[in-house]
Amino acid sequence: MALKLFNTLTRSVQEFAPLDPQKKKVGMYCCGPTVYDFAHIGNWRTFVFADLVRRTLEFSGYDVQHVMNITDVEDKIIKRVREQKTTLREFTGKFETAFLDDLKALGCREPHQKPRATEHIPEIISLIEKLVARGVAYKAADGSVYFSIEKYRGCGCHYGQLLKLNLDEMRAGERVASDEYEKESVADFALWKARVPDDGDVFWPSPFGEGRPGWHIECSAMSIKALGETFDLHLGGEDLKFPHHEDEIAQSEGATGKPFVKFWLHGAHLLVEGKKMSKSLGNFHTLRDLLEKGHTGREVRYLLLTAHYRETFNFTLDGLSGARTALARIDECVAKLRELAAGNTTANTDTNTLTANFSNALADDLNISAAWGEVFKWVTETNKRIAENSLSAKDAASALAAWEKVDSVLGIGAKAEAEAPAEIVALAEARAEAKKARDFKRADAIRDELKAKGWVVEDTPKGIKLKKM
Ligand code: AMP
Ligand code: ZN
Repeated sequence: MALKLFNTLTRSVQEFAPLDPQKKKVGMYCCGPTVYDFAHIGNWRTFVFADLVRRTLEFSGYDVQHVMNITDVEDKIIKRVREQKTTLREFTGKFETAFLDDLKALGCREPHQKPRATEHIPEIISLIEKLVARGVAYKAADGSVYFSIEKYRGCGCHYGQLLKLNLDEMRAGERVASDEYEKESVADFALWKARVPDDGDVFWPSPFGEGRPGWHIECSAMSIKALGETFDLHLGGEDLKFPHHEDEIAQSEGATGKPFVKFWLHGAHLLVEGKKMSKSLGNFHTLRDLLEKGHTGREVRYLLLTAHYRETFNFTLDGLSGARTALARIDECVAKLRELAAGNTTANTDTNTLTANFSNALADDLNISAAWGEVFKWVTETNKRIAENSLSAKDAASALAAWEKVDSVLGIGAKAEAEAPAEIVALAEARAEAKKARDFKRADAIRDELKAKGWVVEDTPKGIKLKKM
């Protein structure tokens, strides 16, 4: 089944086809973190969603080039650098490292390119120069360079591609200097912000004077550099539709005269315990907070992946406990299959059932609930077949191969059975000997010793089994 995705540009679910004439390569850009603090669980919903899109494309056979920028200079960052009397790089470096650590903890595949805005100042300047040369950007009296929405529209270009804007209410020439603004105040936005005392050491020379880039132009310059003037997919959270993505389209199409992106995908927001996350409500979680409370990155990933990306998701701590139970069911089933497969491997996947149903569910605009439904149906059926002893080693190996294929998208893995060290194995064998000799006192003493060392020994029809406690 062909992959279908909801394209914000057309407000419809469309069959995905890459621009590449060979239909193989896909360019995908996801707006990355603004590294001014630790990313919160809402941010993580968006990045796990981007990881799901990438993995689904790879699962479908595409060769994906995944780009995620690091926004390491913008209004909020400058404010904190000033408040904390530190340098830009020192400040952003700390949060960038933390972000990449968290990304790994959540099982996300690392983007192929992670461009930093501060390392693309020449590309940003040259894009602004193009816009000035084309007459859609101008330098204002405050020394900053702005994008002119009126001039852009005058060239027959369309401002308001991702959402309806009431441009008739806009007053021509009105300007907005900050990176974030409401759609009620559509106005010419800043491409280059002239240096002001509050910027401290954060400025670069440019043909327009010393200053720094606006947030929106950073993404246009980095995405065009990494993926070309027109590329396949652009992702982000729904709050980025306006003004960030709308401005990205305007700057890019205004400079190149070509369509910027074919598919725009937006992930819905996340609430925590039914409310908008906020520090004052005590429902604000970073991944670190959750790990400290004893949850795992895998559990958080699972929970974030349970809801459809276009639905608002209510993240709860109860849900996180539920994630642990659900994952344990999968782990147990996979562990039993590994035991049954006893080293048999096969490239044959169970294509008529799990993988086919799972991939059909995902092809339907990433219907993840249906995809999980297939996984748990498979767990139930597999457990039944194991209980009935109707699964051969070869069957178990092909079921495992199917699971691994599916897990290449889910990215939750399955806990491998911990291998017991030689000393523990020797103790377990000594216990078995003692039992054979009907020395139950000694056998029980060895069992206690194993327990004290963190291992449980089980007697199964196939012999002894050691499990880490
Ligand atoms: P930022 O670091 O603020 O630029 O945000 C990084 C990403 O997280 C963006 O794609 C935002 O749209 C997304 N984001 C921010 N808050 C939430 C939320 N509550 N739920 C889902 N995504 C969010
Ligand atoms: Zn962006």
